[in-house]
Amino acid sequence: MNILIMGPAGAGKGTMSDLILKEYDIPHISTGDMLRENVRNNTELGKEAKSYMDAGKLVPDDVINAMVEKRLQEPDCQKGYLLDGFPRTLVQAKAFAEISEKIGKPVQSVIALEVGLDVLEERITGRRICPKCGAIYHIHNKPSKVEGKCDVCGSDLVQRKDDTIEQLKVRMDEYEKSTKPVIDFYAESGVVTEINAAEKPEVVFGHIKDALSKIQ
Ligand code: AMP
Repeated sequence: MNILIMGPAGAGKGTMSDLILKEYDIPHISTGDMLRENVRNNTELGKEAKSYMDAGKLVPDDVINAMVEKRLQEPDCQKGYLLDGFPRTLVQAKAFAEISEKIGKPVQSVIALEVGLDVLEERITGRRICPKCGAIYHIHNKPSKVEGKCDVCGSDLVQRKDDTIEQLKVRMDEYEKSTKPVIDFYAESGVVTEINAAEKPEVVFGHIKDALSKIQ
């Protein structure tokens, strides 16, 4: 099953991806997570990406395309993939059309999560993440058992540098400008399902399952 999940920052891509990978047993590949891991490990890629990420700007397309192409050749992608946060520009989408064809894994379904700015602000400013294992929490909607500590590994939770109202606006503008055309690109081949992501997680996931059940 080859799936893309798309939506602005705070739309719930991470939460829905966790549910999808449990149900369908495919790897969740988030380009944001991969980049953050590179930044943490201070790799060459991480050093190049960091300034763009801190400013809420997109990392250059060629860097991202190469990173994804390599990742999809790993053995855990044999049954497919759930890509989160990629492709984010039309250039990436067109490059990925060639890459995915070349490796025999064309996109079968695009889940587009839709949600208004007011909901996004509340979700983004309350989000906390574990810098060690990547677990995601929300101070009101999904608090950790012990305040400020990760339930999984006990590390101190942090707020992402780009999870502020100012950066949200930059990321929303970037989304409208760069990523909406990607959804239109996939809509031409009839693989897009738009889902209202302001609803409760179980309701949103129900709509996602309906959409994925239609994959041939
Ligand atoms: P995310 O966790 O998906 O919100 O991504 C965090 C940041 O990583 C973004 O604001 C970008 O700076 C960078 N990033 C993630 N995915 C991509 C992509 N496909 N293209 C360019 N930059 C990306």
